[in-house]
This record gives sequence, structure tokens and C-alpha cells, in this order.
Amino acid sequence: MIKQAVILAAGLGSRLKERTEAMPKGFLELNGKAIVEWSVQKLLGTGIEKIIIGTGHCSQMYDGLAKKYPAIQTVYNAAYAETGSMGTLEVCAPHITEDFLLLESDLIYDGIGLYVLHNDPYENTILASGATHSGDEVYLETAAGFLKALSKDKASLASADGELVGISKLTLAILKAMCEYAAKSRSTSPKMEYEHAIAAVSSEYPVFIRKIEYYAWREIDDENHLRMAETEILPRILENESLHTVRREVLLNPGPATTTDTVKYAQIAADICPREKEFGLLMAEMCHDLTAFVASPAEYETVIFGGSGTAADEAMVSSCVPEDGRILIVDNGSYGERLAKIASVYKLNYAVFKSEPYEAINITKLENEFKTGKYTHLGIVYHETTTGLLNPLEKIGPLAKKYHLVTVVDAVSAYAGIPMDLAKLGIDFMAATSNKLIQGMAGVCFVICKKQELEKIKNIPIRSYYLNLYDQYTYFAKNKQTRFTPPVQTLYALHQAILETKQETVEKRYKRYTECWKILVSAVKKYNLKMLVKEEEQSHLITAIFDPETEKYRFDALHDFARRRSFTIYPGKLGNISTFRIANIGDIQPEEMQRFTEVLKLYLDSIDWN
Ligand SMILES: *Cc1c(COP(=O)(O)O)cnc(C)c1O
Repeated sequence: MIKQAVILAAGLGSRLKERTEAMPKGFLELNGKAIVEWSVQKLLGTGIEKIIIGTGHCSQMYDGLAKKYPAIQTVYNAAYAETGSMGTLEVCAPHITEDFLLLESDLIYDGIGLYVLHNDPYENTILASGATHSGDEVYLETAAGFLKALSKDKASLASADGELVGISKLTLAILKAMCEYAAKSRSTSPKMEYEHAIAAVSSEYPVFIRKIEYYAWREIDDENHLRMAETEILPRILENESLHTVRREVLLNPGPATTTDTVKYAQIAADICPREKEFGLLMAEMCHDLTAFVASPAEYETVIFGGSGTAADEAMVSSCVPEDGRILIVDNGSYGERLAKIASVYKLNYAVFKSEPYEAINITKLENEFKTGKYTHLGIVYHETTTGLLNPLEKIGPLAKKYHLVTVVDAVSAYAGIPMDLAKLGIDFMAATSNKLIQGMAGVCFVICKKQELEKIKNIPIRSYYLNLYDQYTYFAKNKQTRFTPPVQTLYALHQAILETKQETVEKRYKRYTECWKILVSAVKKYNLKMLVKEEEQSHLITAIFDPETEKYRFDALHDFARRRSFTIYPGKLGNISTFRIANIGDIQPEEMQRFTEVLKLYLDSIDWN
């Protein structure tokens, strides 16, 4: 799996004259977006985690871009005016730590090219196209599909079998050889272009030419190219890409949540045995990243299981409480009730602290329970999905710690959507899942554990063979394999979802969710509907709304009405109180929530609701 990319962006772009005097070529805009940004977004969409941009001319603009995209690292080539693109690649080289994609900065291209390179079986591959007649072509001569020679001068080649696009996949080994060649040739060719270094070492490191005859791409070197890009190439690219967008369904149910197309497509990858080292390393990296969203990976560890969120709850609850321990479980909704049910199934020593599902927990009463000294553990749900009630873990966690309780928290509908710091909250074990606020596919769940506490559960008798936290942890730590077959493709999707969460950041995701929630709440009030939980106690993630009190209202009718318009809503889940629920978790944009409120209004009008 290729996870790094390098964009060579130091050049002056002097053929575009005044346009690029005060900015690099990559910042030329098409449809209001800088061409390098088109490229960055496509790279991120195919699982690229780190994008190194080699800068020179007007480097500060790329530094600005790096602030917007945490995956970007800029590397400055101070000698950019005296070197060619190879000089910039040499400056970037020490920062490249694995096989990578190499791109020029002044390109627009169909994203399918990246997909082709990711799937190409050769280690070193140059993407090529048929004739573009663009006027600045680098021609490629091949022998049995591999690079033989390249030149801008067609006549110097025995045959022109393709044109260099400016996107290649390279290994660290060929990069090293290219850098050595460039250093050796410095006096004779100080302004070397990177493709000449590739050609020079290609007899030792075979480079495959992957030609897409009618590939839509354009390098933008002059005014003519820019015009062609605008009028001809970009429309083709956009049309091609639109052909494989997935029909949009906005899930307003509380999980699984709406995902991006890039997360959906991440599942389509080469088959692999999950016991391969490569896959183990990927999982280890993902565990690290999952931890890092909420805690220090030095102190906490993520343990992955195949299964839905309840499997993580079950692994956590059944593995953490010793025979002589006693867990107090807060039940203020279906998920708290579920934790208690799990405790009962495993015949743990437990007690339930009941609290109203639509009201804040009475902390004094809870503390009084702690004070009895009867408990060793506290089990609680972070965000009660049943009602959208957010339990104040920032108060309850530290309070539990004051009474030396081990804390076992179901944060399935809070993790990666609400900024949190497990150490500060005093959380020892926390369950979450791949298909809610992290915005991945269903099928992977995980428990984030304080290592110190994890070590302490070692001798607790195994109550579940499959869902044993300590066994899963130690087996993976030792072998970089899960004990049983993990859902490989779901993990690939989760990898992409992690990448996208890192780019957005949990803080900004929470802001986006909150923005959607505000749009909903303001509409709900305008339509004279009432909410179950007080606004200030709501999570901003899920809203339980009382059914309109009219004979004409039917949840199923509202559901079907919305579903026909691509919105999926969810019934309430609270005994005798009739509500419906709107969750605004997942890849949902404020405009979409706005549209939903309009759909809701249409339905309410149809039942003559005020
Ligand atoms: C979604 C959810 C779960 C897990 O439910 P699954 O159906 O197993 O995915 C557990 N706890 C809470 C609070 C949830 O919101």
C-alpha cells in the first residue's frame, strides 16, 4: 500500500509570465480551486497519508496550504533557481521513508490514474498517455513495456510509445540510485529534470510504462495549456469522475453513519492474507492513530475486534471486572441497560444506578453510591444514543477516580466526534466502533485501554473465548496479527476514515456536527415540535423529537417520505414515550441538513401540522 506522495513544486513557471510572478504554478485556479489542491484532495482520497511538497518559488503559499491539510509537509529547495526538478527531489529525499508516488505540481488529471498506479503490479511505474499534441511532450520509448529512453525530441527516439504524464510510482531503492546519479552528474547537468534521472538508472531498476491511451490530463506550462485545461480537459475529468460517484444516501439514523465515497472505495483493494506482515503493520499503525485521537499512545493501547460496537462493549465488560470486583453500571437509556445486561449474562457482580433517560444524572446521588465503598468499577455510557443525552464524563470520570474506581466507558457514539482526553477524563477502558463518528464501515470495533489497567486484567478468568480483551491484546502485541480473521476490507475503509478524520480533526468535526444540529434545532422549534432533552444537555449529535400530536402523523409515513428523498430517519427507542430521532453524525454537510429540514416541513404540511 502506497502511503506517501511527493509533489515537485519549486519551479518558476516562467512561461506563464505575470500569472506566476507572485505565485507558484500549482496555485493557478481551475473552477475556483488551485490545481495543486485538486491534486492533494485526490491523493488523500486514495489513502495517501503524507504529502511532501518540494517548494522553491513563492514557497510560503505551499506553507499556507500545509496549514489547511495536516498531511502536507513542505520541504524548501533553497537552490531552486539553479536546479531542476531533480534538485528538488534530492532535497525531499531524506523525508521520504517508503515507496511513494511522485507528481509534478502543475498537473490536472483524472483520479483514475492514481487508482491504476496503486493497483499496478510493478514496483516502479510511470504513468503514460497517448498523444496529447500539447506542445511540450516528453516522449517515452519502451521495450517490452519497460522504459528504454525518454526525450522531448521525438526524432532522437526509435519510437514514441507514449507521453510522460508526470505521475509515477517509485521505490526507495530507485530514489537512492537517482539521487546518486544526480550527485555524480552535478557539474555537467546542474538543472536535471527528475525523469532523466529515472531514465539513467532504469537499466538497473526496470521502470514499467503504464499507458492509458485516452487519459484525461494536462500539464500547464503556458497560456495555451491553461485554456485547454479549462475548456477541454477539466470538463472531461469531472465527467469521468462523476461516473463513479456512489448514489448519495444521507443517513440520519444513529449509525451506521454516512460515509464518503473515498471511504467506500478504500474497500476495493487487492486480496491479502491478514496474517501478512504488511497487513499487521497497517493494523498496528491504525491502532496507534485510533488511540492518538483521544490519548497518548505511550499510555493507552487500542485493541481491535471484528464485530459491531456491542462486541467491544461485551469484550470490555466481560474482561475487566475481577471475581472479587463489583461494577456499578449507570443506566439512563438503552445502552446503559445493555451494559448491565452484558454484566448479567456473564454473571458479574454488579449493581445498577438508574437515572431518567431525558435528564442529567444527579451527581450527588451518584457520589453517595461511590461513597458506600461497595464498588471497584464504574460502567457508563458517554453519550446515550437513545435520547441524545450527553453524560458529563468530565465530572463523573474524575469523581470515580477520587473513589479509586476503574472506569469502563461505552463511547461508541461519542468517540472521534467529541473532542476528549481519556487521561483527563479518568477513563481506563473505552469502547468504540468503526461505523459511527469515525465515519468508516460497520464491522470493526475496538477498546482503547489504559495500559497500566490492561496489565491488571491479566489473571481474570476468561469468560468469553472470542471477546477476551487481554488475549486479543497480547496476541496482537506479540504477532502483529489478530487471533481470528479480521474484516480486511472494513479495516481498509477504516484506514481511509482515520486519514480523513486526521485531516478534518475531531475539533472541526464536532463543529460541523454542531452546525448541522443547530440547523435542525432551529427548524424543529420553528415547526412547533418539541425535543425530549433540554438543549443544554444535548450532545449536538442526536436529537430525539416528540412525535407531532396529531392523528395524521405516522412515523412510517415520515420515514418513507424522507427515504424517497434520500434521507433515512430513525424511530425513538424509549418505552412509552413517542419520539423520532435525527442523528447528524457521519459525512453530512450543513446544506444537507438544511435540505432535510425542508423535507420535514413538506411532510408536516401534508399532515396539516400548523
Ligand atoms: C451504536 C451503539 C452501540 C453499538 O451498537 P451496535 O449495533 O452493536 O453497533 C453501543 N453503544 C452505544 C452508545 C451506541 O450508540
